[in-house]
Amino acid sequence: MSARSPSSLPDLAKLARGIRAGERAVIARAITLVESRRADHQKAARRLVQELLPSTGKAVRVGITGVPGVGKSTTIDALGTFLTTAGHKVAVLAVDPSSARSGGSILADKTRMAQLAGDPNAFVRPSPSSGTLGGVAAKTRESMLICEAAGYDVVLVETIGTGQSETMVADMTDFFLVLMLPGAGDELQGLKKGVVEIADMIAINKADGDNVARAKAAAAEYRAALHILSPRSTSWSPPVITYSALTDAGIGDLWAAILDHRKRMTESGELDARRREQQVKWMWAMLEDRVFARLRSDPALKAKLPRIEAAVAEGRISPAVAVDEIAGALGV
Ligand code: GDP
Repeated sequence: MSARSPSSLPDLAKLARGIRAGERAVIARAITLVESRRADHQKAARRLVQELLPSTGKAVRVGITGVPGVGKSTTIDALGTFLTTAGHKVAVLAVDPSSARSGGSILADKTRMAQLAGDPNAFVRPSPSSGTLGGVAAKTRESMLICEAAGYDVVLVETIGTGQSETMVADMTDFFLVLMLPGAGDELQGLKKGVVEIADMIAINKADGDNVARAKAAAAEYRAALHILSPRSTSWSPPVITYSALTDAGIGDLWAAILDHRKRMTESGELDARRREQQVKWMWAMLEDRVFARLRSDPALKAKLPRIEAAVAEGRISPAVAVDEIAGALGV
């Protein structure tokens, strides 16, 4: 960080100005502040986001998931480039469940998105690392708000197919896109119930060359499967499309569906309602995380926990009694 005050805390007004002016280095610095684990940095980040809040919320927020190899980075590169060519400013963020454990992330990696990485109208940032998946998601949400304040009008949030991180990304976006591969007859195996329930669209990638017929067959199967689920919204039934991130065929249709969804959900008031519910959910999720962090760092409890855990493991005390003891130690 270059613009440090003597206490090593950045000048928040200056940061906010730089962000609103869309200065990339300042945006990156602000996200680093959001991601910092230092308590004073976190406090400063909260003030910064609060200050920027009136300039946020205007972006189209799209979550994208799919198994490794489905073509997420190729798709984001193609869709992002399609959008910047059309005059949009695109931010790419990620919630990588593995980054919570390893501290590293493979998602939203610039080397995986060669075109966007060099695009002046795109901003690509890998997943933050944090002690918990909830912490990773919270930091990504705040980074999203910073990008919006900086004028990015499309935010793509990438994740991988683990139920919990998918729900978290669906809970921070307006549209949740599930990418699938053209399978060989057992398509429905990949159709995990949970993810289909939160999908706003299923898009089958790699519909090119020899794969076109298989992709179309897979699409028909997914359509039939979706048909028996009752849709989440009366104004939107999740479509199933086929496309190719490699040849760009269908990338425009993908975006058109996202805009169509937006129009319908705006008209019905559901977009507003979804955003309002999400804000409240974020509050509770952050509170839970904070309370949990406090619980784990309580010195008195830290000393007791191994003994309590061992007693529960050995069946000497019931989990419920253990919870009473822990809660008692915390005074809750
Ligand atoms: P990710 O792990 O989901 O990010 O997947 P990648 O974007 O890295 O793609 C995995 C592999 O699939 C790469 O070798 C891509 O070149 C290839 N791929 C991605 N999209 C397509 C596509 O539309 N058609 C074909 N034939 N290959 C693709």
